[in-house]
Order: sequence, then C-alpha cells, then structure tokens
Amino acid sequence: MDSVRQEAAGLLERLGVPGEAFTKGDLEVRSPITGEVIGCLPVTDAEAASQQIEESSRAFRSWRKVPPPRRGELVRLFADELRAQKETLGRLVTLEAGKILSEGAGEVQEMIDICTYAAGLSRQLYGLTIASERPDHRMMETWHPLGVVGVISAFNFPVAVWAWNAALALVCGDTVVWKPSEKTPLCALAARSIFERAAAKFGDAPKGLLTLLIGGRQTGEFLVDDPRVAAVSATGSTAMGRSVAPRLAARFARAILELGGNNAGIVCSTADLDLALRAIAFGAMGTAGQRCTSLRRLIVHEDVYDPLLTRLKAVYQSARVGDPRHSETLVGPLIGAAAFENMKSALAEASASGGLVTGGKRIDADLHPEAYYVRPAIVEMPAQTDLVKRETFAPLLYVMKYAHFEDALRMHNSVPQGLSSSIFTLNVQEAERFLSAEGSDCGIVNVNLGPSGAEIGGAFGGEKETGGGREAGSDSWKSYMRRATSTVNYGTTLPLAQGVRFDVS
Ligand code: NAD
Repeated sequence: MDSVRQEAAGLLERLGVPGEAFTKGDLEVRSPITGEVIGCLPVTDAEAASQQIEESSRAFRSWRKVPPPRRGELVRLFADELRAQKETLGRLVTLEAGKILSEGAGEVQEMIDICTYAAGLSRQLYGLTIASERPDHRMMETWHPLGVVGVISAFNFPVAVWAWNAALALVCGDTVVWKPSEKTPLCALAARSIFERAAAKFGDAPKGLLTLLIGGRQTGEFLVDDPRVAAVSATGSTAMGRSVAPRLAARFARAILELGGNNAGIVCSTADLDLALRAIAFGAMGTAGQRCTSLRRLIVHEDVYDPLLTRLKAVYQSARVGDPRHSETLVGPLIGAAAFENMKSALAEASASGGLVTGGKRIDADLHPEAYYVRPAIVEMPAQTDLVKRETFAPLLYVMKYAHFEDALRMHNSVPQGLSSSIFTLNVQEAERFLSAEGSDCGIVNVNLGPSGAEIGGAFGGEKETGGGREAGSDSWKSYMRRATSTVNYGTTLPLAQGVRFDVS
C-alpha cells in the first residue's frame, strides 16, 4: 500500500489541487492513521487575510443582486461536482480526519444533501405579509443578503459543516470566507477546488465568492475581529466559543455558535434492548467518539442495567479498531496525541472516583508510535461527577444507573451542554415526557435512536454551552439574511399607528 502521504497527494491531484498548495509552508498536517506528515501549507498572514476579506466584500456587492434561483443554480452545480468526486473526497476525509471509509463518504453525501436542499430553498426565501391597522397600508417583510459570512470549522467534520454554512449562505446572497481546522486544511483545499469547477461551469460567479484562510486560532481571529465580516459561524469546542462570542458581541456581529456537547441516552425498563444496543454502539464508538453528537452518557434503568451492560461489553470487545481504510474497521484513530492524553487522564480520574473501567487501552503503539488507536471505553460510574459533566472528545461512555424516571431526567439535564439527546422506551408517557417542555433541554431530542447522525432537513444545534446556534434545515437560513419590515401607504392621508395625532397646519 502507498504511504498515506502518497495516497493523499494522489487524491488531491485528482481533485485538482496543485502540488505547490500543500508541499510548501509552515503548517504541518499529519494523518491520524500513521502520524506521518501528509502536507505543509503556508499560513495566511494578517495582510493576506485582509485582502481576501476585501475581495469577499467586493464579491458580495455583485452577488447580492443575482436572483436567488440563479444563485441556487451554482449550488446545484456544486452538488453535481461533489457527486462525481464523492469517493475521492470521502477518502481524503478518511486520510486527514481518520474516519472510516463509509463515514468519510457519508460526510460528502451530507454536503450533496445540503446543496440539494439549498438549491430548492433558493426559490423559497419568503417573508410574511402582515395586516396593517391603518387604512390603505400594506405591511410586509423582505429577507435580504447579509454580507460576508466567516466560517470557522472543527477537525471532526472537515467539509460537511462548512458546506452546511456555505450552501445556505450562497443562496442567501452572501459570500463566504472559510477558516478550516488547522488539523484538516487539505480537505478544505479539495472542497474549494471542487467548488471552483462548479463556479467555472456557472460562468459569471464573481471572484471572491468563496475564499480560504489557512491557519489556527490566530487566523480565525482575523475573521472574528474584522468589521467587514457580518456574521461568523464558528464550530468547535466551548472554550473556542467562550473566546469568540464576546469579541463578536463587542462589534455587534452575528454569531452562529456550534460548540461542545455531552449527549446522553436514557434506557428505560421497557426499551427494545436489541435496538438500543445498536444505537448505543454507533453513538458512542462511531467516529471514534469524535462527533459533537457522540453518545457520552448512558443512564440505564436498574431493571435492565445488568443484561444491557453484559451485551454492550461484548459488542465493544468485538468492534474492530484500526486503520480506517480497512472495510471491517469500525473505530479509527484519535485525531492526535492530545486527544489520547485527554482520554487517558479522564479514565484515570474516573477510576479514582470509583468508576469501573472496561477497555480504553492504547493499541498498535509499536506499529504506529505516532498514531493513537484506543479500544473504546465503558466506565460504570457510581454518580454523575464533575468529570462526567465535561466533554472528553474520545470514545468514552459513562454509564449510570437510575430507579425513577424523574431522577433520570434530572441527571440528563444537569450538565452544562445541551446539544443532542435520546431515550429508548416503548412507554409513550416516558417518550412524550422526554419530548415535552419539562423533558430534554437539548436542541436535538430523539426517541428510539441515538443522539448522533442528524439529517440536514432539520435545524442542527444546541442550547446552553453548546452555543444556541442553528444550522442546516428548517428556518436556519434566516441567520444568513437580514430582515426588512416595510410599510407602504397607497392612500392619500397619513394616519399614524396607535391613533397618535400630530396635526400640523
Ligand atoms: P477547537 O475548538 O479546537 O477548534 C475549532 C476551530 O476553531 C478550529 O478551526 C480552530 O482553529 C478555531 N479556533 C480555536 N480557537 C479560536 C479562537 N479563539 N478564535 C477563532 N478561532 C478559533 O475544536 P476541535 O478540536 O477542532 O473540534 C472538536 C470540538 O468541536 C468538540 O468540542 C466538538 O463537540 C465541537 N464540535 C461541535 C459541533 C457542533 O455542531 N456543535 C460540530 C463539530 C464539532
């Protein structure tokens, strides 16, 4: 087999990325599969970032005038190009982010889905008409393009999260400046190249519609602090959001924050355990526990605790951990050394506070001293400690027991994050309570399926420390536009609202 570096270079070439774009520069990109360096990219400095934002602002001034269905045509063409490159781009996601092949391809499918959705949406950017209290007056609202949208994305969805934002922003008449994760910039180069093919077929897309800034935190800050950037959609840890949110607020920019999660599943006594088992396995081990929606806490009724745990441990034991390019692998590598250290220290802390750990050991360290493969861990906890309330971005599932439904609900909601949630029950009262106002406090609430693996048709995002942002479907598009409320007087008098009189002679 080729080295990962050679394979990545071959994929990038097929995707139209010139070699000089990823072979010179200070930013080293490592594949989590072997730890080897697969690219070196130049970091965008302040001056270049400013120029790109200027170019994006210029492009916005012409793009906003293009009729939305025509803008949708560009996004439709982008979906066509993505379909043609699905396997190649999906494999690059595997090499750079370590996802198993079907998840890499699934990520590209998600890009195609959002583009298809956005193309249809381009004919439905509708506002309301509103009854006026004044005679011969009409009220309406119109949605206008917002401006330059900055997108800051995380390593674990190196292309899909950007596409969620970009597809909507583009049909809404905005332009996009993207700062991908410093851990996965090669996927970003590839996505841009695919987009440029679509733009060339489209014909009259302005230069600067989509630009790319390469680098880490500091590069992201160029977007956060620049007054020409009207909105910033930032996906990543809650720590990142804590830094970004006040800076955006200080200049009254729009913020779409998609931050950390600490997602739970409640397994009730009536649950279909076969179904729950499959959902738990995918939710907690899939993407090596490195999804924002990964299942991290399992709250299990005491009557089914022992049978469920026995079967769950067997499933964990049989799951193949290893090279994500092999078709039987279910759990690929962690993204890097820091992720492994975080997992290790969380497991040590859990043991010290009475947790019973199964799994969690590093494997294949001799074979790949610079790559981090771990057996997914189950940790049976006596209580929901502060450790359990923190997000550890690794395949680490805390399991806790409950006796009364109220206790399970309370435990479920007593963490700072509020992204995704699930309940496994055949009892309609429990299911409906979980979905009700006094139930789960998360942005995503599922019944009889796990918390991860959302479809693009619904609004995606969460509450509390998850940041409150919403992306993808439903009415999320409104975050990428500005609303104008207009009143037209088609009469000859000037009645004032609320009966106010102001007679001048
Ligand atoms: P991270 O916070 O380390 O980095 C995310 C992005 O933010 C990167 O591009 C990084 O360069 C940038 N960044 C970091 N600090 C910044 C700052 N102060 N100003 C501007 N930019 C900054 O996250 P990560 O390790 O790449 O991803 C994992 C985290 O992301 C997890 O917490 C996960 O839950 C979260 N996540 C959330 C969602 C969601 O939709 N809620 C989706 C994916 C990942």
